[in-house]
Amino acid sequence: MSPDELKPLVRTIPDFPQPGILFRDITTLIGHGAGFAHSVRHLADRAQAAGAEAVAGMEARGFIFGAAVAARLALPFVPVRKPGKLPVPTLGIDYALEYGQDRLEIDPGAVSPGQRVVIIDDLIATGGTALAATALLRQAGARVDHALFVIDLPDLGGAARLADAGVTVAALMA
Ligand code: IMP
Repeated sequence: MSPDELKPLVRTIPDFPQPGILFRDITTLIGHGAGFAHSVRHLADRAQAAGAEAVAGMEARGFIFGAAVAARLALPFVPVRKPGKLPVPTLGIDYALEYGQDRLEIDPGAVSPGQRVVIIDDLIATGGTALAATALLRQAGARVDHALFVIDLPDLGGAARLADAGVTVAALMA
C-alpha cells in the first residue's frame, strides 16, 4: 500500500482531547494489518536510507511504530519515556506544552557516543516533543539528524523547527 492508500486508514476525531482540536487517531491504521505493515515498511525504508544505527520512539504511540521499525531492521530500540518509568538513574528534559510542561527521560546507557539515532513518532505538530527528544538523545551522546513520523501537521511548524535544530523530517502523510 502506498502512503496515499494509508491515509484514509487514519481517522480524525473532533474535539479530542479538548474542544476545537481535530485529533488524528492512528488506532484504525494499526488495526488494519496490511496498513500497519506497510506503514512500518515505509518508515523502515526511510530509517535505513538515513543510516539509522538505532531507533528511538516516544511514549506511547512512538513505541508502536518505532519498536516495529527497529525490529524490522534488527536495530536497537531506545524508549523515550514519560517521567518516573525507568528503574535506573535517567537523563531527563522538561519542555513546554501549549498549556503547561511535560518531561521525557531516557536511560543514558541506551545510546552510545556518536551512534546515529533516528527518532520515530506517530505525529509531529509543533515539534516540541521531537525537539525535546532530540536534545535528550544528543545529551546522551547520540547523533540525531533524522526524525520520521506517520503524520505531519505542517501548519503547526514542527518540521521547520526541527530543521532549525539540524534534524531532517519526513512523514508518510500530512
Ligand atoms: P508536538 O510536540 O506539538 O509536535 O506534538 C506531537 C506529540 O503530541 C506526539 O507525541 C503525538 O503523539 C501527540 N499528538 C499531538 N497531536 C496529535 C494528534 O492529533 N493525534 C495524535 N497524537 C497527537
